[in-house]
Amino acid sequence: MDKISIIVPCYNEEESIPLFYEEIKKQEQKMESVVFELWFIDDGSRDKSLDEMKKLHQNDKEVHYLSFSRNFGKEAAIYAGLEAATGKYVTLMDVDLQDPPTLLGEMYEIMKNQDYDVIATRSTSRNGYSFFRKTFTKWFYHLINKISKVEMVDGARDFRLMKRKVVNEILKMKEYNRYSKGLFSFVGFKTKWITYENPVRSAGNTKFNFWKLFSYAVEGIVGFSTVPLAIAAIVGILFCFISFLMIIVIIIRTLIWSDPTSGWPSMVCIMFFLSGVQLFCTGIIGEYLSKTYLETKQRPIYILRESSEEEEE
Ligand code: UDP
Ligand code: MG
Repeated sequence: MDKISIIVPCYNEEESIPLFYEEIKKQEQKMESVVFELWFIDDGSRDKSLDEMKKLHQNDKEVHYLSFSRNFGKEAAIYAGLEAATGKYVTLMDVDLQDPPTLLGEMYEIMKNQDYDVIATRSTSRNGYSFFRKTFTKWFYHLINKISKVEMVDGARDFRLMKRKVVNEILKMKEYNRYSKGLFSFVGFKTKWITYENPVRSAGNTKFNFWKLFSYAVEGIVGFSTVPLAIAAIVGILFCFISFLMIIVIIIRTLIWSDPTSGWPSMVCIMFFLSGVQLFCTGIIGEYLSKTYLETKQRPIYILRESSEEEEE
C-alpha cells in the first residue's frame, strides 16, 4: 500500500470542503493499493471551514487538519502541510476542485511506471478567471522568465505529485517570503508535465483579489531575480551619458550663438522626470531591502491555533 498525502489549503471554504471530500473519496476507491492521508489546512478562515474539517476528522481517521491563528496565506499553508505530511508521495490540491481529483490516478500511474520524481500540472486555459487577470498573468510570466534564471512555467499550478525526497528538499528552504512555484523549480528533479483544461471553481469565490495577486507577483520577482536591482545602475549610467552629451551641445551652442536665458519649462519637465526615475529606483531597492529585513527577523512562517493531532495526545 502506498500512502499519498494530500495537502489542501482552505481559506473561507465551508461550501467547497464537503464537495472536495466526496470527490477525493470517490477517487480513492478507484485507485487500488493506495491510501490517502488528507491534510486540510485552515488558513485562518472566518466561516465554518474548521467545523467542516472537524466533522470529517471525526468520521474518517484519514482526515487531519491544522488550523492557523490567522490568515497567513496559501504559501504558509502549503509549507505547514508539507511539514505534516507522512506519505511516500505528497500532493497539493486546491479545495475548489479546480485541480481535478480524477487526474490523480493518471499521475500516480506515471510516477509508478516511469522514472520521474515529480508529476506537475499546467492548465492550458485559465477558465473562470477575468480577462484582466489572464492578461496580467501572461505579462508576469513573460517578464519573470526573462529576468530569472529559474524557469517558471506559464500556467503551472501548485497541483503536483512529489516523491518524499523532493518534499524534504523543499522543506529545507525555510525562507519567510515564499513563492512556491519558484521553489519547486529551484529544487529541480525529473519532472513530467501534464496539461489539462482547468474547470471553473466548484463553489465560493476566488480568494485572490488584485492586490494579493500583485504582491504575490512581486514576491516571485524579488525572490527569484536580482535584475531589477541592476536597473538603477543601468538607468543611472544612461542618464549620465545623455547629460554629458547635452553639456557639450550647450557649450558649443553658447560659444557660437551666445544663447540668451530660456528653457525654463523644459528644465522643470526634466527635473520631474529625473526625480521620478530616482524614486522608482529607490523603490526597487527598498523592496529588496524590506524582504531582507523580514528574512532576518526569522519569524515563524505560520502559527497554529489548534490541530487534529494535539487532541489525540
Ligand atoms: N487559499 C488559502 N489562503 C489564502 C488564499 C487562498 O489557503 O489566503 C486557498 C484557497 O482556499 C484555495 C486555494 O488556496 O483552496 C486557491 O485559492 P483560489 O481558488 O481562491 O485561487 P485561484 O483559483 O483564484 O487562483
Ligand atoms: Mg481556485
